[in-house]
Formats: sequence, C-alpha cells, structure tokens
Amino acid sequence: MHQDLLPVAALLRNDQEIDALRKEAVELGARVERAKVRVTEAEAALVKQRAAITENIALQADLDKKHKSVAGRAANLKAQLEGGAAMNYDAALHQQALLQQQLDSLDEQAFAALEASEALEAARIKAEDRKGITEVMLRDALDAQKRRRPDLELRFKDVQAERKERHTALRPDLRIAYDDMRDRKKPVLVTIVDDICSCCRMNVPPQLVFDVLRETKLVVCRGCNCWFAGIEEPDDKGDEDDAAE
Ligand SMILES: [Zn+2]
Repeated sequence: MHQDLLPVAALLRNDQEIDALRKEAVELGARVERAKVRVTEAEAALVKQRAAITENIALQADLDKKHKSVAGRAANLKAQLEGGAAMNYDAALHQQALLQQQLDSLDEQAFAALEASEALEAARIKAEDRKGITEVMLRDALDAQKRRRPDLELRFKDVQAERKERHTALRPDLRIAYDDMRDRKKPVLVTIVDDICSCCRMNVPPQLVFDVLRETKLVVCRGCNCWFAGIEEPDDKGDEDDAAE
C-alpha cells in the first residue's frame, strides 16, 4: 500500500468499526422488539384459546339444561301413557318418538362438545408453552442488550475519539476525497484483481497497475474514484471458499 494511504486505512478501520458497532446496537434493539411482538402474539393466542374453552363450557351447560328439560317432558309423557291418561294414544307415541330424537341429538352434541373440550385443553396447554418460550426469548434478548450495551457504548466512545483524531490529522486533500467517498458509500480502498478494479470492475491500464504494484504513486480508480490499496491474486477457488462458509 502506498504510504499516503496508511493513515487513510487506519481512519477507514475506525469508521468501519463505528458502522459495525452501530449495526450491532440496532440489531440488539431489533431483537428485543421482535421478541416483544412474539410475546404479544402468544398472549393473544392464549386469550383466544381460553375464550374458546369458556364458550365450550357454556355450550355444555346449555346442552345439559336442554337435555334435562326434554328428559322431563319425556318422563311426563311416559307417565301419562302408562297411566292411560293420554287423550290420543297415537299422537302421544309420535310425540314420544320426537322427544327421543331430540334427546339423541342433544346427546350427540354433548359428546361433540366433550371431545372439543379435550382438543381445546390440549391447544391451551400448547399456547401456554408457546407463551413461556416467547417470554424466555424476550428475557434473553433483554439480557443480551443489557450485557452488551455498556461495552458497545464504551468502545464507541473510544473509536469515535480515535477517529476524530485521525480524521483531523489526515492531509486535507486526502480528507476531502475520503469524506466524499464515504458520503457516496464507496469502499474508499479497493484492489486490482486481474487488471480490473475490485469495486467498479473497470479495466486498469498496465502503467497504473505497475504504479500500484511499486507503491510509488497514489492511484485513483477512474471508474469509482477509490484509491487502489494493492494488487490481489485472482481467487481461483472462490467457489470452494463460498461452499465452506
Ligand atoms: Zn473502481
């Protein structure tokens, strides 16, 4: 690397670390927010599950009440039939059959409600578990944030101070170019790979490649305006590296 670029590289390392620290702080906060959303969702699901259970219990009570009422009427009718008090025997028999049908139907509904109550209870337990898991996730996220934040803030302060010093000390023309590149989100320092700029892929004339290699001149890429920090060997086994990651 050309000597003029050494303080640039040092400043860039500071800025990159500042970016990374900011990103980490944002991610810690985002993790907490995501966990909070999950807890809220799990709580809502549990409330819904409990409401469904309450509703089913009410349904069972209602079916039971209806069953008692119809059974009472059936018993009365039976007594009338046995006592010979029924005015119209055929009509009474028909009525008895209808009541029995109603009782059968109510029995079926009661059985379905009983089966549903087992499924609802299983779902409620699952929802409770899910809520418990999300609460642990939230606690972990908060712990991670609490544990890491002081270090992040401390390191941030240190790097900021170092960055300021290095930025001020940088040669004015380099500083202006550096700030401009950072503003435009450029990588600042790039390399030449196979006579091509690693950033913008523009061809680099042989003379400039030579200058970079000998580190005699500060060479700027004509495509992206970044500085060439050196020459890089083309990575033939790039695919393998990617696969290993
Ligand atoms: Zn370039």
